[in-house]
Amino acid sequence: MVKLAQHKIKIKYIIFSFIAILIFISIVYPLHTNNHPRIFIRDKNSKMTGIKRKKESERFVNNSVKDLYRVISLLKTKNYYHNPNDLRKFPEPYNAMFSICSDIDSTTLKEFETYHQFLNTTDTTPFGKGLGLDIGDSFWVFTASPKDDSLSMFNGTNIKSIKYAAKIKYYFDKGWIDSIHTIGNFSRYKKVKLVVPDRKLILKGWNALNSFGIHPIIWINHGDDSNIQNYGGYSPKSVTKTQDGDKKGSECYHTDITYKNGIRYLWNSNITYEYGYDNPLYIVKLRDKQIVWAFKRCSTKLTGKKVTFIWSPQGIREEITKQRLENIIKKNQYSIIANHFGSYYNYFPFGKEDIKALRLLKQYQDNGKVLVARTSRLLKYVTAQNYVIYTKIKYNGLTYIDIKSINDPLIGKIIPSIDNLRGITFFTDNSIKTRIMINYKLVGIDNLNFGEFTKQSIGIKWFRS
Ligand SMILES: [Zn+2]
Repeated sequence: MVKLAQHKIKIKYIIFSFIAILIFISIVYPLHTNNHPRIFIRDKNSKMTGIKRKKESERFVNNSVKDLYRVISLLKTKNYYHNPNDLRKFPEPYNAMFSICSDIDSTTLKEFETYHQFLNTTDTTPFGKGLGLDIGDSFWVFTASPKDDSLSMFNGTNIKSIKYAAKIKYYFDKGWIDSIHTIGNFSRYKKVKLVVPDRKLILKGWNALNSFGIHPIIWINHGDDSNIQNYGGYSPKSVTKTQDGDKKGSECYHTDITYKNGIRYLWNSNITYEYGYDNPLYIVKLRDKQIVWAFKRCSTKLTGKKVTFIWSPQGIREEITKQRLENIIKKNQYSIIANHFGSYYNYFPFGKEDIKALRLLKQYQDNGKVLVARTSRLLKYVTAQNYVIYTKIKYNGLTYIDIKSINDPLIGKIIPSIDNLRGITFFTDNSIKTRIMINYKLVGIDNLNFGEFTKQSIGIKWFRS
């Protein structure tokens, strides 16, 4: 009998423990699922440490989970919208954004590595301390001539003969490459057309890109009129008259494939001396009826009525000047300049005056005036800034801004990750009493950028490298 009683107590104990565990899980688990509040989104790149962090945290962190549930249920009753007046044009403290967009023509791997070490790192280089700027570049999949030593994935058009594919993947992931200078270089060699870039070859190119995990979002037209794969700038009376990449039925038609493979932004051979833009994006209707984004980039200068190309490395001194930088700051503008870093000199492209101009740009960034960004980041930022959808509520003395999506009218609705929103900045009455959420999840303090200058603001921190 005693044994039976003990056994019953044991069973009761087990049942009680089991129920207690179930109750505990039902309370705690929802706090960790996507549909419920989490205190912060963490960023693995976060480096904010020391006194500043402690001070801001003390002022900042005091949300109770109960408050967050209430905030979320209130947010669910609100309309989401976009109001440009709520948004700062650029992340605090900058008043302009600048990008250098380099075409890969004639650039060898050695040249590419040498000038990017100087531009992108802070290493000691033979040309002085590196600038540590965020500057991207382009690449090819194919070259018409197998002897062409420029930065392409394969020798000639032979996908069985790999040239720099692995290096290109490495530098793409590192951020030193972010655009494709069309699928290949098909310009005439000694006045002879070597290869016709037909649809079959272009499809092979995209398959190769996918198999290497290289997914560029920018396409930059290239070269002479034998580059019939170019598209988006067709004009029957100009040099662009052979652009057939977007013409259904042409031997090189590919824009259906190309957009399915993730291209979002196009440079359609549009030459301009304008260097400052309120918005660098504009809409282009392709000949296959697709409507796509194109972007402006400056390649020339205007002297009197004369237009001259300055998109060579020794043109940098004219592309980056104090006057130009001051102008884009004054007008709150974007600037994108085109160049060909590797195509004119061997080994290292920049002269003394060009290095001086590049250092000036670096100085403007260091002084918090002009943010320098690789072209893909700049264009994605423009899209987010123009089309971010959010709502705001006040609760218990705090303002909550919840971001829902980026409604790109051409690409469609993007449900953003934190990286899609880097730099997005809202004006607010009191930055320290404002919270940003992305689809009901609070963004952690390490990912926030507080502006307490002429007008208070709070934003999502820019990329760290
Ligand atoms: Zn080119």
